[in-house]
This record gives sequence, C-alpha cells and structure tokens, in this order.
Amino acid sequence: MRRDYEHHFSECDHCRARQKFHRSLDVSLAVLTSLACFFFLFALAVLIHVKPLEHVAFNLLGLDISSMYQMLVSAAVAGVCFSAIGLLLVCTTTPVPSYLGGIAAERARLIEERLPAAIKSLRPR
Ligand SMILES: [Zn+2]
Repeated sequence: MRRDYEHHFSECDHCRARQKFHRSLDVSLAVLTSLACFFFLFALAVLIHVKPLEHVAFNLLGLDISSMYQMLVSAAVAGVCFSAIGLLLVCTTTPVPSYLGGIAAERARLIEERLPAAIKSLRPR
C-alpha cells in the first residue's frame, strides 16, 4: 500500500503538491503549539518573578493581590497544559516527527557528501 502511494506521489504533481501543503500545515501546527507552550511558560516565570504586577493589581485595577495572582497563575498553568496537550496531539496524529526526521537525515547526507575526502575517511562506516 505504502509503495503504491509513494509510486503515485512520484508521478502525480497534483497529489505531491497537496501532500506538501498538508505537511506544511502539520509543521506549522507543531510550531504554533510549541510556541504557545513556550510563551505560557514564560508568562508563568514572569508572574513568579516580577513584583510590579502586584502594584498594577493593587493600585490600578483595585484587585486583591492574592486573587489576581492566583487567577493569572492558574490561567498560565492551564495554558501550558492545553498547549502541551495540543503539541502531543499534533506529534501523535500527524506524520510531523518522521517528516522532520527525514528532512534532518537528508540535510545530514548532503553535508556529509560535501565533506573533504580526508575527513570522510576518518568516519567509521
Ligand atoms: Zn494523483
């Protein structure tokens, strides 16, 4: 089955273009979810380490400090959890890991081909 698919992809421009489009969608989903995860972690770190937020909460918004802080921290924790779940779903339901691994292997092969013969002979085969 897989061989039939690959044979068809090597012949049909339309399907190859569609496959490329869907792979780029998968990769952008993975990038977006990992960025979201990173930014929620960053927000959590800021909340824990920056005191001026307490000033904003107390003087400008008139909020109770601890309730404001707890609300923001729980929002950041929920954001980290949701984006981590999203990233996990993207990595398990799409072929992103094998696709990116294939790209990395291809790049490694190209770099290895360009190495001088003296260095190539040092590498174990
Ligand atoms: Zn086709």
